[in-house]
Amino acid sequence: MVLIYLETSEGQLKKSSAEAAAYGAEVAKKMGDKAEAVFIGSDGAGIAEAGTYGVQKVHQITNPELGTFNIQAFAAAFTEVANKIGANTFVFAKSSNADSLVARLAISLKADVATNVVDLPETSSGFKVKRSLFTGKAYAYAELKSANKIVVIRKNAFTAEPTGSAAPIENVTVSVPANALLVKTKEVNKATGEVLLPEAEIVVSAGRGLKGPENWGMIEELAKVLGAATACSKPVSDMDWRPHHEHVGQTGIKVSPNLYIAVGISGAIQHLAGVNSSRCIVVINKDAEAPFFKSADYGIVGDAFDVIPKLTEAFKKVL
Ligand SMILES: Cc1cc2nc3c(=O)[nH]c(=O)nc-3n(C[C@H](O)[C@H](O)[C@H](O)COP(=O)(O)OP(=O)(O)OC[C@H]3O[C@@H](n4cnc5c(N)ncnc54)[C@H](O)[C@@H]3O)c2cc1C
Repeated sequence: MVLIYLETSEGQLKKSSAEAAAYGAEVAKKMGDKAEAVFIGSDGAGIAEAGTYGVQKVHQITNPELGTFNIQAFAAAFTEVANKIGANTFVFAKSSNADSLVARLAISLKADVATNVVDLPETSSGFKVKRSLFTGKAYAYAELKSANKIVVIRKNAFTAEPTGSAAPIENVTVSVPANALLVKTKEVNKATGEVLLPEAEIVVSAGRGLKGPENWGMIEELAKVLGAATACSKPVSDMDWRPHHEHVGQTGIKVSPNLYIAVGISGAIQHLAGVNSSRCIVVINKDAEAPFFKSADYGIVGDAFDVIPKLTEAFKKVL
């Protein structure tokens, strides 16, 4: 049995969880098995949607003490459900919560783990997965040999097309050990913005080339027209021109949207490390020699203060 871990945002199934659901359902099909999902938390209004991607049932863990994320308690709850239903293949979409959960589950479920997986497994002999390495510069093929297997898929590597109908939900309470509840969440400060950066299909990102925080209005306007999230380079958030949750790169958020528009960003290796698995990269920079152009699918050599307003007006006419 394949068991998929679901996450939501504002009650809605996250796009990355929809991808995990579709991936898990395909894996189950390949193995002639069933695909079910588990959701832990108090924010699960939209989880039945997982059924439209091929999930047959969602186990919703309803313990009140599991309303917000807690690594130990969530790992214990997930393990209990996994053992109860006899699941042996576990699918996660990459997220900060999933990363920490998977590390614990590898121990509690005695499972082999493959992260950054970008394709369906080869199951004709064994269970081999394709992994993206070195920030998308290379691939490795890993064989998971243990009976229990955990696959963490990279965002945007697998397309989720809704085809089926909503999944039935089974409410479950689990027996979380008291020592798994020692850490308590006192407050949750959520990133703000109309489109959340880690989930965004389009990202408009800007760097030090914009000169100062007062010039971000044109970036926000372009993002709004495109239905995009905004992001920035590290120095921009270090100088408090933009909030830290917008910082992308090696030391910030890693994004892989369909379209990444980089404005006034030089393209340092540490920045590229967080964005170079984007499907299409557009670079706007006034220096034709800016390193970012080497990684760009499309480039515009020009002054951002001239190009961005024109681009926004052009998009307004067609969108
Ligand atoms: C350990 C370590 C980790 C790091 N992690 C990260 C990270 O996670 N993310 C990250 O972003 N950086 C990171 N950095 C910093 C990184 O090395 C670069 O310094 C940083 O990315 C540069 O930011 P920038 O491109 O905005 O600024 P700059 O390098 O100053 O580039 C500004 C660009 O804007 C262009 N420009 C100027 N004016 C205009 C204009 N009017 N119109 C159009 N273009 C214009 C310039 O030609 C230039 O290319 C890290 C560095 C280290 C050492």
